[in-house]
Amino acid sequence: MVKVLAVLYKGGQAAKEEPRLLGTIENSLGISEWLKKEGHELIVTDDKEGPDSQFQKHIADAEILVTTPFHPGYLTADLIEKSKNLKLCVTAGVGSDHIDLDAANKKNITVAEVSGSNVVSVAEHVVMSILLLVRNFVPAHEQILADDWNVAQIARNAFDLEGKTVGTVGCGRIGYRVLERLRGFNCKELLWFDYTDLPEGKSNKRTPDFKRVDKLEDMLAKCDVVTINCPLHEKTRGLFNDEIISKMKKGAWLVNTARGAICDRNAVKKALESGQLNGYAGDVWDVQPAPKDHPWRHAFNTLGGGNGMVPHYSGTTLDAQARYANGAKDIIQRYLAGKEQNPANLIVIDGDYASKAYGQREKKPTGQKPAGP
Ligand code: NAD
Repeated sequence: MVKVLAVLYKGGQAAKEEPRLLGTIENSLGISEWLKKEGHELIVTDDKEGPDSQFQKHIADAEILVTTPFHPGYLTADLIEKSKNLKLCVTAGVGSDHIDLDAANKKNITVAEVSGSNVVSVAEHVVMSILLLVRNFVPAHEQILADDWNVAQIARNAFDLEGKTVGTVGCGRIGYRVLERLRGFNCKELLWFDYTDLPEGKSNKRTPDFKRVDKLEDMLAKCDVVTINCPLHEKTRGLFNDEIISKMKKGAWLVNTARGAICDRNAVKKALESGQLNGYAGDVWDVQPAPKDHPWRHAFNTLGGGNGMVPHYSGTTLDAQARYANGAKDIIQRYLAGKEQNPANLIVIDGDYASKAYGQREKKPTGQKPAGP
């Protein structure tokens, strides 16, 4: 019998009414019955903070941990040390920064995510966020809700996306898809900054309209819109601080659906207030759920707009949930059967990084070995 611990978000009434909300504790990725039938133990909880939480209690002897970036159970080095049986961490979604990957490596714990499962969902959200900032949509909608009507007040800060330069920090599965989706808008330039090449099969020959920029600062200086699409790791934590934001074009828009902690919370707020940024949008926060007094809830540009923040949901549409629930089940199934994992899903295995996305490292990614019990 294997003990599986799943930290998922609370769905409440919505999850009772909508069984396709698979990322919730109520619907448990659709794996409860299956695991029970197979004779395994499944603990499902949303209680993840502090030493008395269910997460910290059960991590002590769980063999498999399933977490979701939407309600991350932060698996710190201390908790990894405390976990006696942990062999496999499954991220139901994409982005495993809530796990201390170096500490996982030290204990030979495999970390796998459902790569690609929600990349279209996020790319669509990015395009929507760019448009809502550039076109000043949120304050316009708020006028309607407030029974107000003032075209000039909105139009004074509304623009077309056509003719603007857009750049992505990170051009992997999501960043690439964002640029692809922006083609139809006749932007001036579509730029990308990344230390790895374009995703497999997406060579620059097929995409001469996407231009690679070698230095982040050079790209930022050209962009009207910057979209962040890289993982959170030691080199990207706090990357968008006062200094980097000062390298952006004055009045640019910044969209971050990657991870909240890539942007310094106070630097973003200050930049909006000074006019250095005209808008900031995204769904990711440096702590989740975001506290009521988080500065990004009420951060505005000099005209009182420019805030496109929402709770972390871009990658958890119902379509995405079906994909990441299936993918998480597949990873667990392979582990239980002692089968090889799909290499694309592996982040760390056998004490080393299997993915190139979590920072540039000297060592080449290792070949994969089965992650069996
Ligand atoms: P991916 O691995 O396909 O691509 C990530 C790219 O970022 C890689 O090409 C990598 O080389 C690049 N990169 C890493 N560090 C960089 C740096 N310092 N500068 C420039 N580029 C860098 O991953 P993906 O599927 O595109 O997802 C990217 C990230 O988006 C995830 O790690 C996750 O944090 C986030 N995400 C958010 C949601 C959401 O719901 N908001 C959902 C899925 C993923």
